[in-house]
Amino acid sequence: MKVRVVTLGCKLNFAESSALMNTLLAKGCVRAKPSEAADLVIVNTCTVTDTADHKDRQVIHRLKRENPEAKIIVTGCYAALIRQKQTRGEQLSDADTAILRQINHLIPKDLEHFHPAYSRDDRTRCFLKVQDGCNYFCTYCTIPFARGRSRNPRIAHVVEQAQQALREGAKEIILTGVNMGDFGRSTGETFIELLRALDQLDNNSDLGQTEYRIRISSCEPNLLTDEIIDFVAGSRHFAPHFHIPLQSGNNEMLKIMHRHYTRELFEERIEHIRRVIPHAFIGVDCMVGVRGESEERWQDYLAFIQRLPVSQLHVFTYSERANTRMLEMNLEVVPMKERERCSQILHQVSQDKTNNFYQQHMGQQAVVLWESKKSQDGRIFGFTENYIKVSCPYDKAKINHFESIIIGCDAQLS
Ligand code: SF4
Repeated sequence: MKVRVVTLGCKLNFAESSALMNTLLAKGCVRAKPSEAADLVIVNTCTVTDTADHKDRQVIHRLKRENPEAKIIVTGCYAALIRQKQTRGEQLSDADTAILRQINHLIPKDLEHFHPAYSRDDRTRCFLKVQDGCNYFCTYCTIPFARGRSRNPRIAHVVEQAQQALREGAKEIILTGVNMGDFGRSTGETFIELLRALDQLDNNSDLGQTEYRIRISSCEPNLLTDEIIDFVAGSRHFAPHFHIPLQSGNNEMLKIMHRHYTRELFEERIEHIRRVIPHAFIGVDCMVGVRGESEERWQDYLAFIQRLPVSQLHVFTYSERANTRMLEMNLEVVPMKERERCSQILHQVSQDKTNNFYQQHMGQQAVVLWESKKSQDGRIFGFTENYIKVSCPYDKAKINHFESIIIGCDAQLS
């Protein structure tokens, strides 16, 4: 049977799709070539915003057209939310009903058990799932409904998978999860214990000479303790790279959003990182246009974010999601135009911060891991440990190797 697995959304979905494909291949299925129609199409969907839902539907319609004889199975977060609406007897939108007519099965993810997964996007990096689900129920978010409660495997199991990835040639492991700092909730272990174990992968006899590095894809600020930051600062394999969701820089908004910290705590975390790892790359998630974000609160948020010494912002525009608590709250709705305006402003702030961060590191020594992609003008790309993208003339021998370089001299900013 020829199968095609199509993935939308986050790295976690990509890791899970990869595990799914491997299971199908082990059962005798073959991967459909890009040019041929498949017998079975599985679409692993996302539902983080309205736009994500829209994209899911577009992709499903297109796949039905391109594979008219195939069985179509839809799984993932969008599938989970549709199933929930059906279970509660809620009326589906016309667009969702049209999707149900196109597909053979809707299979939401298992919301109770942990299913291990990892994927390799090219020969270099491996996305390793270490946690799933979330117990936080932020008032704007549907993810806890789509992915269930927080759960994780035991550390020993993650270590085995990471070692396997290194044996297969991965040089960089990116730890992924929904609320990763919550690791250990279901096993009585802790996130920092996991990090310590992963820093020792090369203690295993057959991996003694293996060079590798690890990135933590994201961690909630209240769970990113000083102990973890200090550990990363002194570790042998963890990259000086943090990705921390802020979502709003105004304390009243953080309360409305039911986030678990104040902006003062967030700022302390950033200051601590800058104190112990001055060259760290710090990416920050920011939402704009959330209900209740008055002009006064937005200005307060903007002023806060402008002064934070971070390297990049990931900007998300709020969209109303069915069944979230925010819709039941009596809050001022931010007009769409205003949401777009705030998004543009934060994109510009982000651009300035990234340029600034890059300029600070010109002429500095760094270790780059070269990736396999070749650009049209014949260059090869890679990231330094602190996530600066650089390039140099293509050389096949460099692929999947670490190299010590001077930024702006041996390799150019990209
Ligand atoms: S922490 Fe909040 S925003 Fe993140 S997945 Fe959990 S509920 Fe959603």
